[in-house]
Amino acid sequence: MMDTISASNSFAIGDTTVTRIVEREGPWHDPYGMFPEATPDKVAAHLSQLPDHVYDPAVEKICLTFQSFLLRTPQHTILIDSCVGEHDERRVDLLYPKDRWLAEFRDAGVGFGDIDYVFCTHLHVDHVGWNTRLENGHWVPTFPNAKYIFGRREFEFWEKWNKENGPPASGPSFDDSVLPIVAAGRAVLVEDDFQLNDLIHLSPAPGHTPGQCCAHLSSAGDTAIFAGDALHHPLQVYEPDWSTVKCEDRALAIVSRRKILESCADTKTLLIPAHFSGSTAGHVITRGDSFGFRFLGG
Ligand SMILES: [Zn+2]
Repeated sequence: MMDTISASNSFAIGDTTVTRIVEREGPWHDPYGMFPEATPDKVAAHLSQLPDHVYDPAVEKICLTFQSFLLRTPQHTILIDSCVGEHDERRVDLLYPKDRWLAEFRDAGVGFGDIDYVFCTHLHVDHVGWNTRLENGHWVPTFPNAKYIFGRREFEFWEKWNKENGPPASGPSFDDSVLPIVAAGRAVLVEDDFQLNDLIHLSPAPGHTPGQCCAHLSSAGDTAIFAGDALHHPLQVYEPDWSTVKCEDRALAIVSRRKILESCADTKTLLIPAHFSGSTAGHVITRGDSFGFRFLGG
């Protein structure tokens, strides 16, 4: 079982190994609630081009995976995004069991102390959770040796938002999963064109949130874009102008999404959005004035 998880969830990009650490997967959103521009005709047409795992017809919901990406480069061990984590003060639908993430992290063969960098593409509740764990009543960094990379623009937006509004309905994730990292001296606030190491640089992808950043990996001639929530579901590859109801600036999200899709269309570059189901990663292909998506391995 352990080998199966490791084998199916890992793939190589040059001399970097990427392992998906899954917290949950399966049906999550009604497509019409998530994408206001969606129509039954378009949804059906695009789903016919995609594998079954992207949609559950029994409950009529699109499937989203909540996961972290563990990158082992020749120099560093890096975690991109940290899911929902073990927090009780969360919206009820986020209180699903978290054992799977812990088991998959352990089965990947690394310990919390091995992580050199944690990079959060943005600071929504489902991307910061495992940043911290409760220890003797205090939220402390889960990864004691890691530098946590947060975009400065993103951090400052949510710092102000939380001061003005208090915690959002999803729970106080900024207070319990971001601020304790700053208090512990582990946070590095970076500009949105930051070079993380020799192989990884960040670029801005605002819209879903004001300071969201992508991570670009270039390793021994192979390339990938970790796109965060610039896309939530492969339907948005086919319909780049469908922003979600959760996007702070829906028009700007379209601009960022199209830029990402155009940059990797018809190239070897793997697109790796945070929440795509199945193998998650895939290649973008041009289809007229829009795009299509081929999942890695199927
Ligand atoms: Zn998300």
